[in-house]
Amino acid sequence: MDWMAELRLRGYKATPQRGLILRVLEESSQHLTAEEIGRAVEARAVPLNRSTVYRTVETLAGLGLIRATRIGRSTHYEIAGGEQDHHHLVCSRCRATVDLPLAGASAELTRMAEAAGYELESVEVLVTGICRTCRERERTAATPG
Ligand SMILES: [Zn+2]
Ligand SMILES: [Zn+2]
Repeated sequence: MDWMAELRLRGYKATPQRGLILRVLEESSQHLTAEEIGRAVEARAVPLNRSTVYRTVETLAGLGLIRATRIGRSTHYEIAGGEQDHHHLVCSRCRATVDLPLAGASAELTRMAEAAGYELESVEVLVTGICRTCRERERTAATPG
């Protein structure tokens, strides 16, 4: 994706730092914290200080270009859109995160909210579990010898 063109297309300022952070998130295809985005920017030897990274991340989230999800104690970011209506399955040990397309669950929750007299604004489901890697690590650790 040409993020600079995309920003201009949407009528937003196309600054190099916005383009860079969107590229970092797109290439990682992970859910990164602002801290991790900052490290990825540093790894590219781009002179961009952390506070600028944090500020830009917040701006992009505000513009709806990236999506913020609260996982555990930290906020994780990913490119918005794509699997738009997805939820998150998170490993409670290592915080590895997988997207879950739960359109059916959203519809059901919408129905329940309406039955309770609420006009729904957003649905965000966070499912936790222990990933295969962590389970295997624990099984290996528990095996004597
Ligand atoms: Zn895990
Ligand atoms: Zn996600």
